[in-house]
Amino acid sequence: MADNQIFCEKCDKPAVYLDREQGIHLCRNHLKESVEDEVRRYLKTIRLPETLGVAFSGGKDSTALLKVLSEIRSELPCRIIALTVDEGIEGYRQDTIKAATETCLILGIPHEIIRFQDLYGYSLDHLVSGSERNACTICGILRRRALEVLAQKCSISMIATGHNQDDHAQTALMNAISGDVNKVFTGYGSSSWYAQRIKPFVCVSEKEVTLYALLNGLFRDLPECPYAVSSLRGEVRTLLYQYEKNHPGAMRNAAQCEENIRAKLGGTYQQEAYKTCSICGWPGSGIICQVCMVLGKDTHLNPMTKEK
Ligand code: SF4
Repeated sequence: MADNQIFCEKCDKPAVYLDREQGIHLCRNHLKESVEDEVRRYLKTIRLPETLGVAFSGGKDSTALLKVLSEIRSELPCRIIALTVDEGIEGYRQDTIKAATETCLILGIPHEIIRFQDLYGYSLDHLVSGSERNACTICGILRRRALEVLAQKCSISMIATGHNQDDHAQTALMNAISGDVNKVFTGYGSSSWYAQRIKPFVCVSEKEVTLYALLNGLFRDLPECPYAVSSLRGEVRTLLYQYEKNHPGAMRNAAQCEENIRAKLGGTYQQEAYKTCSICGWPGSGIICQVCMVLGKDTHLNPMTKEK
């Protein structure tokens, strides 16, 4: 055995992970246990419905979340369905959809898929052709609606997403950069139209999530989305890693800051009331919702046009 071997703080097994903020080393079993306990703690604060949807891209975060939920499913009062959106991204989505399907089969979790091509009549590749720089914005708007349509089809009123602590920190910084205070509250208002979103990995770092997937044999070397390179999130991510390296705990503080703002102002902040889109009838911030803006205002060509 090597002299410089480091051991777990909780047992005598070799450590695989160092929590730099707390200065604690954990072995593979205790790392897995700590991730699962964090999710248990989070879910205890939520009133779960009969069926919980899991937004499942097939990537490492949602795969790790699905694995945790399958590990603790006997403790949960609900059944789980994995929900996947196929945006139609050549050279990327085929592999991740295949991985998602395989993972659901391994874990024995029902799996539903919705495709941009079927819902909107076009793939994301087609819609962003010539304006690739806006791909993530367009993708985000259309994917949110697609997930919602799929949730409604499956009678799902709550969706768990795999967003981890690092994602929350990045979102907080991106919202600060955009200067739009409304974004701090977006998605936290109440609307009977939309399924409630929950984020069981909110206190779990990206590193822990990745290791969890890896240690459970569920980490796959999947291709990156070709549009990710141009995203602001990528730049913010690099910046935050540097801060965390130099100032352990910075990521957690950044991740919690919006939650703290919402907790302090939530009762007093007046969110703008939803309007009804004149094309599709879904709620939105204007008389034409963002989805119909993206798809074009011509109601004859827009597949989202409500049935008369
Ligand atoms: Fe969509 Fe952007 Fe994510 Fe690609 S990187 S899947 S375009 S949000």
